[in-house]
Amino acid sequence: MHLSRYFLPVLRETPKEAEIISHQLMLRSGMIRQASAGIYSWLPLGFRVLKKIEQIVREEQDRSGAVEMLMPTIQSADLWRESGRYDAYGPEMLRFPDRHEREMLYGPTNEELITQIFRDSVKSYRDLPRNLYHIQWKFRDEVRPRFGVMRGREFLMKDAYSFDISADAARHAYNKMFVAYLRTFARMGLKSIPMAADTGPIGGDLSHEFIILAETGESRVFCHADTLEVPTPPADIDFDQDLQPIIGQWTRHYAATDEKHDPTRFEKDVPEPKRVTARGIEIGHIFFFGTKYSEPMGCRVQGPDGNLVAVQMGSYGIGVSRLAAAIIEASHDASGIVWPVPVAPFEVALVNLKAGDKDTDAACADLYGKLERAGVSVLYDDTEERAGAKFATMDLVGVPYQLIVGPKGLKSGEFEVKERKSGERASLGQDAVVKRLVADVSGQRTLA
Ligand code: ATP
Ligand code: MG
Repeated sequence: MHLSRYFLPVLRETPKEAEIISHQLMLRSGMIRQASAGIYSWLPLGFRVLKKIEQIVREEQDRSGAVEMLMPTIQSADLWRESGRYDAYGPEMLRFPDRHEREMLYGPTNEELITQIFRDSVKSYRDLPRNLYHIQWKFRDEVRPRFGVMRGREFLMKDAYSFDISADAARHAYNKMFVAYLRTFARMGLKSIPMAADTGPIGGDLSHEFIILAETGESRVFCHADTLEVPTPPADIDFDQDLQPIIGQWTRHYAATDEKHDPTRFEKDVPEPKRVTARGIEIGHIFFFGTKYSEPMGCRVQGPDGNLVAVQMGSYGIGVSRLAAAIIEASHDASGIVWPVPVAPFEVALVNLKAGDKDTDAACADLYGKLERAGVSVLYDDTEERAGAKFATMDLVGVPYQLIVGPKGLKSGEFEVKERKSGERASLGQDAVVKRLVADVSGQRTLA
């Protein structure tokens, strides 16, 4: 991508309305713009990040055996009356009539809709287990939308729904999602901690929130330092095996958000030096809720003995748009964002220090072509800005590697590479520089 043809409206000043660093940096780097309270447009740079996050979520859902589909954003109130949630949900739900005065709503979640779909199509235990998911915009009329996309009103969520014949089988479905979540977040460079959670309006009795530690997190969290050291399940994990031992490793120590925190137990179970008290951001949430929806909505299948049984269900959410902000909270410095390669909008920033100069332009065009052909995504600054401004922009937008090309280097046949994260610089010849970048970038594309 040539910067001269791109749309990257960076801001040099920190916008006053942004309280936390991720919100400031997302505005400054031209990732998002507010449309109205809690509702954002994703500008080209932000959109690329959102798509990368979404794709990692998708790959790990697919790996675990979940099946992707797409449900609409607009739903009918009647469906929500079947589960009894239409009245229970409260003012967070955006409700409106269509032209025929039918009551509609913008979906805050999809348990009812997926239960209806499943009920109407599946009749036998032989079609179980299933896990269906989609990645779709949600609307919740939050009392206090804030911190940019961290707590928006319109936000992108991955929500999966599992269907099983028995509570034991549903437990396995829950464990699969648990493992998939650990892998998903690790691939984005995040250390997530599963914490026992309240089930809220969705209900049920088995639930974990996945939390990352961050000073700006909205909840206080308490956990054992050793949980931060548990290894992420590997990519080739067999999801059909008994996953309980892995879940056990992750849940054996105390971990709770303030909603569930029990100070006496915390002090008793966690020795002083291992006590972690911090703030956290909820990036995912998994629930097992049994027959909460299948019972009232009549989602039953024939069991092996011929009797009809209500299906055992769970639901599993990931805040896809919130993750863009959460990753920035976890990975930035004084100059701007530091994207981990797997979610970076571009992998290499090619900086032409003398755009308009025949030789420099030719060298850049050559490097650009070589990198792109090797599958590396490049943001090429071919503008006539001064060098200082170019570096400041690239540091701000956080592309993992900068490749700097100027007349001085050209003369000596050397090109400078700067790693955004460490600030380390190296000078290399043309072939070596391409080789090095391709190797470094592809080596980091999959962190877990
Ligand atoms: P919270 O406690 O933060 O309000 P929740 O428990 O109501 O979230 P869930 O129903 O569990 O949210 O939704 C699944 C995921 O969607 C959450 O873990 C979070 O990552 C994301 N999410 C929820 N609400 C918002 C929001 N207002 N803005 C952005 N992401 C959100
Ligand atoms: Mg939640």
